[in-house]
Amino acid sequence: MFEITPYPTFSWSFSRHKSLTSCSRKYGYEYYFAHNGWLSYNVEPFHQHVYRLKKLQSMPILFGQIVHHLIEQTITSYIQTGQVASVAELVNRARGQLNAAFIDSTRHVDLWRQKPNKFYMMQEIYYDGRLNPELVHDYKERLEAVFENFLQSETLQQITADTGSLRIGEPEQFRSMKIVDTQVFVVMDFHYYDDMKDKWIIIDWKTGGESEDDRQQLALYAYYIQQKYDVALEQIDVYNEYLLTGQRKKYSYTTFDIDNILHTFQRSVLEMKKYQADIFTNEPVDFEDFEKTSDAWRCKGCNYKELCSQF
Ligand code: SF4
Repeated sequence: MFEITPYPTFSWSFSRHKSLTSCSRKYGYEYYFAHNGWLSYNVEPFHQHVYRLKKLQSMPILFGQIVHHLIEQTITSYIQTGQVASVAELVNRARGQLNAAFIDSTRHVDLWRQKPNKFYMMQEIYYDGRLNPELVHDYKERLEAVFENFLQSETLQQITADTGSLRIGEPEQFRSMKIVDTQVFVVMDFHYYDDMKDKWIIIDWKTGGESEDDRQQLALYAYYIQQKYDVALEQIDVYNEYLLTGQRKKYSYTTFDIDNILHTFQRSVLEMKKYQADIFTNEPVDFEDFEKTSDAWRCKGCNYKELCSQF
């Protein structure tokens, strides 16, 4: 049964780490002050406000979510029926979902305020009252490119040419493991085992550009597979499929890379613990102790900017 707790449970993920390194105040909003903001009573309006802002989706985030979801559906449907949707079908479905998000953001604002996890609110519309036509045009063009590249990707070619040697992992969204005493969440897009090659393959679809974090984030996924299936790192191949350009990048990891990500994890957990007033309940320190970033450029695209201008 769902239990209401005064504080969230402490856990670690790569995105939590990135949130803290980008801005401590943002980290506080996301991982502490939004907690219980989904409740409609017995909660301070401040937490409801933070939670609503947490649910804002900017165009790049929404676009990425929709594309990832449709790719997952396409692969699942191929496994069940042997059929693959066309580019036109995928583009149409994605456009339908983007339109639904636009309609929610412009016509269902009150409903979104009451139930921010059931309705969309686009960040650009929330803050600017409109979507920039150039942004809309840009993302319309991206839709064709990402689905064309997905259908031509080596990953999909391998799945559809499967001669029975692939064991596809369940498309669960949230996987977790314990490192020391900390629950670590690993949000992997897709993985499978190739019997013929005796290899585990991890795929991460990217709808944006390359980032310097990609290699380290994927090292955590490799570590997860290594631990879960008790396999050697040499048996794990990891790929980024960059859907905008159609490029594919392969990573192989050594124990040095794994030590590196575990070191990052340990330092990051220590840093996060500084924001706990009570390490057992995960009660946070005072709001003011979550410092605002001094990098003003980060605030421009931040969901929480209306709160930061108030405090
Ligand atoms: S608006 Fe700026 S200071 Fe405030 S949470 Fe966002 S990034 Fe941090």
